[in-house]
Amino acid sequence: MASSTTSEAAAASGYGASGPRSAPPVRVDLRSDTLTRPTAAMRQAVLEAEVGDDVYAEDPTTNALEARVAELLGHEAGLFTPSGSLANVLGVRLLVEPGEELLCDARAHVVRAELGAHAVTSGVTTRTWDAPRGLLDDDAVDRVVAMMTPDAGPHLVSTAAVAVEDTHNFGGGTVQPLAALHRLHEQTSAAGVALHLDGARLWNAAVALGGEHAGGWQGVVQEVGGMVATASVCLSKGLGAPVGSVLVSSAENIARARTWRKRMGAGMRQTGLLAAAGLHALDHHVERLADDHARARRLAQAAAAARPGCTDPAAVDTNIVVLDVDDARALVLAAAERGVALSALGPRTARLVTHLDVDDEGADLAAAVLAELLGR
Ligand SMILES: *Cc1c(COP(=O)(O)O)cnc(C)c1O
Repeated sequence: MASSTTSEAAAASGYGASGPRSAPPVRVDLRSDTLTRPTAAMRQAVLEAEVGDDVYAEDPTTNALEARVAELLGHEAGLFTPSGSLANVLGVRLLVEPGEELLCDARAHVVRAELGAHAVTSGVTTRTWDAPRGLLDDDAVDRVVAMMTPDAGPHLVSTAAVAVEDTHNFGGGTVQPLAALHRLHEQTSAAGVALHLDGARLWNAAVALGGEHAGGWQGVVQEVGGMVATASVCLSKGLGAPVGSVLVSSAENIARARTWRKRMGAGMRQTGLLAAAGLHALDHHVERLADDHARARRLAQAAAAARPGCTDPAAVDTNIVVLDVDDARALVLAAAERGVALSALGPRTARLVTHLDVDDEGADLAAAVLAELLGR
């Protein structure tokens, strides 16, 4: 009994098991863009990777990946990490001393999905702001700035850093407007408060804004990178690499982060096998994110047509669609019976995410299933 309850709970939450044992096979998996599997070409790149011992800093492929990502964001150095959470933990640790605070959005990954790591391992305290869709617009920036208490003296907690998530995951893949980021950057630098970017899906934000930017997606990445002291980016989400994130910052900061990574048990050896997948992803899988965004928009349109108000297709900036429904768990289970895997993020909130392993055929099936289930 216990195990079937557990697997149903996992299916309904979207994390863990793919569904109850009796469910038919998953035909399209929209639970997360972390579910991508390496393509044949990526596996070939892994096979051919030159490797060395990365704890000795002698893995040429890892060194190349770190340099490449640092350059893309306009930073001096990069550090490969096994997860985005660790890249965030190391980045925030560089900026915030024990007992100081990090300000972040109330639904930020750093404060909702990293299991308290910043508090447990770094002694960081947090205060949060609320923003619809996690959007950092001018109004939100004003509220963040009003919350800051840098150098608060011996009685109050001092604000050392502000974390920005771009795109915002639980907000629904929200792209942060560049103008508001500039405004935040001006105010935080004037106050001596540092910025950390949780750019797990910065690539999606860059592709979404790249069409209107003189420098294309690379220009967006440079511009955002130029505003932050530390940034983490994921290779294992929409980019389709099996493992890994990169933290970027100054050379001095990254040297400190390298020591902390080892101290936390994540000094790794022949990581070139993983870094090769990341380099391949950067070469081949960034621009195609636009296809994921178009499919997500289509799914939102199908859902909104079947049940007006459950989502706003115009607010789907990238590859994530959040649905407001009466019973998210029931929707997830009914969709699973039809071969479509979704997640329930809360009792009334379902989420679907498009990615490298979702093609037009999969999107068609998901759209038909959403139309059927939401049209009831
Ligand atoms: C996925 C994600 C991360 C990192 O997650 P890991 O599972 O630790 O790699 C960080 N921030 C956001 C916003 C994410 O979506």
